[in-house]
Amino acid sequence: MSNQLNLNGIGMTSRRTRERLLGRLVEQGIVNMQVLDVIRSTPRHIFLDEALSHRAYEDVALPIGHGQTISQPYVVARMTEIASNSGRLDSVLEIGTGCGYQTAVISKIAKKVYTIERIKPLLERAKKNLKLLGIRNVEYRHEDGSLGWEEKAPFDAIITTAAPQTIPDELYQQLSPEGGSLVIPVGGDNQQDLKHIVRSGQKIHTENLGSVRFVPLLTGQVQT
Ligand code: SAH
Repeated sequence: MSNQLNLNGIGMTSRRTRERLLGRLVEQGIVNMQVLDVIRSTPRHIFLDEALSHRAYEDVALPIGHGQTISQPYVVARMTEIASNSGRLDSVLEIGTGCGYQTAVISKIAKKVYTIERIKPLLERAKKNLKLLGIRNVEYRHEDGSLGWEEKAPFDAIITTAAPQTIPDELYQQLSPEGGSLVIPVGGDNQQDLKHIVRSGQKIHTENLGSVRFVPLLTGQVQT
Protein backbone atom coordinates (compact mmCIF):
# COMPACT_ATOMS: atom_id res chain seq x y z
CA MET A 1 0.00 0.00 0.00
CA SER A 2 1.43 3.41 -0.90
CA ASN A 3 1.92 6.00 1.84
CA GLN A 4 -0.68 8.25 0.27
CA LEU A 5 -3.37 5.59 0.34
CA ASN A 6 -2.28 4.62 3.81
CA LEU A 7 -2.66 8.20 5.07
CA ASN A 8 -6.06 8.77 3.51
CA GLY A 9 -7.43 5.50 4.78
CA ILE A 10 -9.91 3.07 3.28
CA GLY A 11 -13.03 1.29 4.55
CA MET A 12 -13.39 1.78 8.30
CA THR A 13 -10.71 4.48 8.20
CA SER A 14 -12.34 6.49 5.40
CA ARG A 15 -13.24 10.16 5.37
CA ARG A 16 -16.87 9.42 6.26
CA THR A 17 -15.87 7.44 9.35
CA ARG A 18 -13.64 10.34 10.42
CA GLU A 19 -16.47 12.84 9.97
CA ARG A 20 -18.63 10.74 12.29
CA LEU A 21 -15.94 11.07 14.97
CA LEU A 22 -15.85 14.84 14.46
CA GLY A 23 -19.61 14.96 14.99
CA ARG A 24 -19.19 13.14 18.28
CA LEU A 25 -16.53 15.58 19.48
CA VAL A 26 -18.80 18.53 18.69
CA GLU A 27 -21.69 16.84 20.52
CA GLN A 28 -19.46 16.45 23.56
CA GLY A 29 -18.68 20.17 23.59
CA ILE A 30 -15.47 20.70 21.62
CA VAL A 31 -15.88 24.14 20.01
CA ASN A 32 -12.39 25.25 18.94
CA MET A 33 -12.45 25.06 15.13
CA GLN A 34 -8.68 24.85 14.83
CA VAL A 35 -8.63 21.83 17.14
CA LEU A 36 -11.49 20.17 15.25
CA ASP A 37 -9.73 20.79 11.91
CA VAL A 38 -6.50 19.30 13.20
CA ILE A 39 -8.26 16.20 14.53
CA ARG A 40 -10.01 15.89 11.15
CA SER A 41 -6.75 16.04 9.23
CA THR A 42 -4.68 13.79 11.52
CA PRO A 43 -4.95 10.14 10.44
CA ARG A 44 -5.27 8.23 13.73
CA HIS A 45 -5.13 4.82 12.04
CA ILE A 46 -1.42 5.13 11.28
CA PHE A 47 -0.70 5.23 15.05
CA LEU A 48 -2.24 1.79 15.60
CA ASP A 49 -1.21 -1.76 14.78
CA GLU A 50 -2.89 -2.99 11.63
CA ALA A 51 -5.10 -5.41 13.60
CA LEU A 52 -6.69 -2.46 15.43
CA SER A 53 -6.60 0.22 12.74
CA HIS A 54 -10.24 -0.43 11.76
CA ARG A 55 -11.20 0.97 15.19
CA ALA A 56 -9.06 4.11 14.85
CA TYR A 57 -12.00 6.52 14.50
CA GLU A 58 -13.99 5.17 17.43
CA ASP A 59 -13.90 7.59 20.33
CA VAL A 60 -12.03 5.20 22.62
CA ALA A 61 -8.53 4.64 24.01
CA LEU A 62 -6.90 1.56 22.41
CA PRO A 63 -3.85 -0.57 23.32
CA ILE A 64 -0.49 0.25 21.66
CA GLY A 65 1.63 -2.42 23.40
CA HIS A 66 3.96 -2.16 26.43
CA GLY A 67 0.82 -1.93 28.62
CA GLN A 68 0.10 1.57 27.23
CA THR A 69 -2.73 3.12 25.23
CA ILE A 70 -3.40 5.70 22.54
CA SER A 71 -5.57 8.41 24.10
CA GLN A 72 -9.26 8.74 23.34
CA PRO A 73 -9.80 11.39 20.60
CA TYR A 74 -12.21 13.37 22.81
CA VAL A 75 -9.59 13.62 25.55
CA VAL A 76 -6.89 14.69 23.06
CA ALA A 77 -9.27 17.31 21.63
CA ARG A 78 -10.22 18.57 25.10
CA MET A 79 -6.64 18.78 26.37
CA THR A 80 -5.52 20.53 23.19
CA GLU A 81 -8.45 22.93 23.35
CA ILE A 82 -7.68 23.85 26.95
CA ALA A 83 -3.98 24.33 26.20
CA SER A 84 -4.70 26.51 23.16
CA ASN A 85 -7.31 28.65 24.92
CA SER A 86 -4.62 30.08 27.10
CA GLY A 87 -3.18 32.17 24.26
CA ARG A 88 0.11 31.84 22.43
CA LEU A 89 1.67 28.40 22.10
CA ASP A 90 5.26 29.06 21.13
CA SER A 91 6.59 26.24 23.23
CA VAL A 92 4.74 23.20 24.56
CA LEU A 93 5.95 20.28 26.66
CA GLU A 94 4.20 16.91 26.43
CA ILE A 95 4.96 14.26 29.04
CA GLY A 96 4.06 10.75 27.81
CA THR A 97 4.56 10.62 24.03
CA GLY A 98 3.20 7.08 23.62
CA CYS A 99 2.71 6.48 19.89
CA GLY A 100 2.65 10.23 19.25
CA TYR A 101 -1.01 10.95 18.48
CA GLN A 102 -1.43 13.86 20.93
CA THR A 103 2.04 15.05 19.89
CA ALA A 104 0.96 15.20 16.24
CA VAL A 105 -2.23 17.08 17.09
CA ILE A 106 -0.58 19.73 19.29
CA SER A 107 2.35 20.11 16.84
CA LYS A 108 -0.08 21.56 14.27
CA ILE A 109 -1.11 24.30 16.72
CA ALA A 110 2.11 25.03 18.62
CA LYS A 111 5.31 26.46 17.13
CA LYS A 112 7.55 23.98 18.91
CA VAL A 113 6.75 20.80 20.87
CA TYR A 114 9.05 19.01 23.31
CA THR A 115 7.93 15.48 24.13
CA ILE A 116 9.26 12.95 26.65
CA GLU A 117 8.59 9.18 26.79
CA ARG A 118 10.10 6.66 29.22
CA ILE A 119 9.61 3.56 26.99
CA LYS A 120 12.17 3.67 24.18
CA PRO A 121 10.37 1.54 21.53
CA LEU A 122 7.26 3.72 21.88
CA LEU A 123 9.30 6.89 21.41
CA GLU A 124 10.91 5.38 18.29
CA ARG A 125 7.48 4.49 16.95
CA ALA A 126 6.21 8.02 17.61
CA LYS A 127 9.20 9.48 15.72
CA LYS A 128 8.43 7.22 12.76
CA ASN A 129 4.74 8.13 12.77
CA LEU A 130 5.39 11.87 12.89
CA LYS A 131 8.02 11.60 10.17
CA LEU A 132 5.45 9.88 7.97
CA LEU A 133 3.15 12.87 8.57
CA GLY A 134 5.94 15.32 7.69
CA ILE A 135 5.97 16.87 11.19
CA ARG A 136 9.30 18.56 11.99
CA ASN A 137 8.68 20.94 14.90
CA VAL A 138 9.02 18.26 17.60
CA GLU A 139 12.01 17.47 19.80
CA TYR A 140 12.01 14.02 21.43
CA ARG A 141 13.57 12.78 24.64
CA HIS A 142 13.83 9.27 26.06
CA GLU A 143 13.66 9.92 29.78
CA ASP A 144 11.52 9.81 32.90
CA GLY A 145 9.61 13.03 32.29
CA SER A 146 7.93 13.35 35.66
CA LEU A 147 10.13 16.33 36.50
CA GLY A 148 9.61 18.04 33.14
CA TRP A 149 12.41 19.30 30.86
CA GLU A 150 14.14 22.10 32.73
CA GLU A 151 16.60 23.12 29.98
CA LYS A 152 13.75 23.94 27.59
CA ALA A 153 11.53 25.79 30.11
CA PRO A 154 9.54 27.99 30.37
CA PHE A 155 6.61 26.48 28.46
CA ASP A 156 3.40 28.19 27.38
CA ALA A 157 1.70 24.87 28.04
CA ILE A 158 2.54 21.50 29.57
CA ILE A 159 0.31 18.54 28.70
CA THR A 160 0.76 15.38 30.73
CA THR A 161 -0.82 12.26 29.26
CA ALA A 162 -0.05 9.97 32.20
CA ALA A 163 -1.31 10.56 35.74
CA PRO A 164 0.83 11.34 38.81
CA GLN A 165 -0.61 10.98 42.33
CA THR A 166 0.36 14.58 43.02
CA ILE A 167 1.73 17.30 40.77
CA PRO A 168 5.54 17.64 40.99
CA ASP A 169 6.63 21.19 41.93
CA GLU A 170 9.01 21.21 38.96
CA LEU A 171 6.08 21.33 36.54
CA TYR A 172 4.72 24.52 38.12
CA GLN A 173 8.19 26.04 37.96
CA GLN A 174 8.56 25.25 34.26
CA LEU A 175 5.35 27.06 33.29
CA SER A 176 5.64 30.51 31.77
CA PRO A 177 4.87 33.04 34.54
CA GLU A 178 2.69 34.92 32.01
CA GLY A 179 -0.27 32.58 31.84
CA GLY A 180 1.49 29.23 31.35
CA SER A 181 -1.02 26.42 31.36
CA LEU A 182 -0.70 22.89 32.76
CA VAL A 183 -3.23 20.25 31.71
CA ILE A 184 -2.79 17.12 33.82
CA PRO A 185 -4.72 14.11 35.14
CA VAL A 186 -4.07 13.67 38.88
CA GLY A 187 -4.95 10.70 41.06
CA GLY A 188 -4.90 6.93 41.55
CA ASP A 189 -4.80 4.05 39.06
CA ASN A 190 -8.45 3.73 38.14
CA GLN A 191 -9.71 7.26 37.93
CA GLN A 192 -8.23 10.73 38.07
CA ASP A 193 -9.32 14.35 37.97
CA LEU A 194 -8.29 16.33 34.92
CA LYS A 195 -6.88 19.60 36.18
CA HIS A 196 -6.10 22.85 34.43
CA ILE A 197 -3.56 24.99 36.21
CA VAL A 198 -2.68 28.51 35.10
CA ARG A 199 0.36 30.35 36.42
CA SER A 200 0.40 34.10 36.75
CA GLY A 201 3.67 35.30 38.30
CA GLN A 202 3.98 33.26 41.48
CA LYS A 203 0.21 32.72 41.67
CA ILE A 204 -1.41 29.45 40.64
CA HIS A 205 -5.04 29.03 39.66
CA THR A 206 -6.44 25.49 39.57
CA GLU A 207 -9.62 24.38 37.82
CA ASN A 208 -11.07 20.89 38.03
CA LEU A 209 -12.38 19.59 34.71
CA GLY A 210 -13.90 16.25 35.73
CA SER A 211 -12.98 12.57 35.82
CA VAL A 212 -10.68 10.91 33.34
CA ARG A 213 -8.78 7.65 33.10
CA PHE A 214 -5.11 7.67 32.10
CA VAL A 215 -2.23 5.26 32.64
CA PRO A 216 -0.09 6.16 35.67
CA LEU A 217 2.96 8.43 35.43
CA LEU A 218 5.79 6.07 36.39
CA THR A 219 9.36 6.79 37.39
CA GLY A 220 12.52 5.54 35.67
CA GLN A 221 13.06 4.74 32.01
CA VAL A 222 12.67 1.54 29.97
CA GLN A 223 15.01 0.53 27.09
CA THR A 224 13.08 -2.32 25.45
N1 SAH B 1 0.11 10.91 24.33
C1 SAH B 1 -0.29 9.55 24.00
C2 SAH B 1 -0.78 8.83 25.23
C3 SAH B 1 0.17 7.78 25.63
S1 SAH B 1 -0.24 6.93 27.13
C4 SAH B 1 -1.36 9.58 22.92
O1 SAH B 1 -1.61 10.60 22.33
O2 SAH B 1 -1.95 8.55 22.63
C5 SAH B 1 0.89 7.70 28.24
C6 SAH B 1 2.34 7.49 28.00
O3 SAH B 1 3.04 8.06 29.12
C7 SAH B 1 2.80 6.02 27.96
O4 SAH B 1 3.42 5.78 26.73
C8 SAH B 1 3.79 5.91 29.13
O5 SAH B 1 4.89 5.07 28.85
C9 SAH B 1 4.22 7.34 29.31
N2 SAH B 1 4.78 7.65 30.63
C10 SAH B 1 4.38 7.21 31.84
N3 SAH B 1 5.15 7.74 32.81
C11 SAH B 1 6.08 8.52 32.19
C12 SAH B 1 7.18 9.32 32.64
N4 SAH B 1 7.48 9.43 33.93
N5 SAH B 1 7.91 9.99 31.72
C13 SAH B 1 7.62 9.90 30.40
N6 SAH B 1 6.61 9.15 29.91
C14 SAH B 1 5.84 8.48 30.79
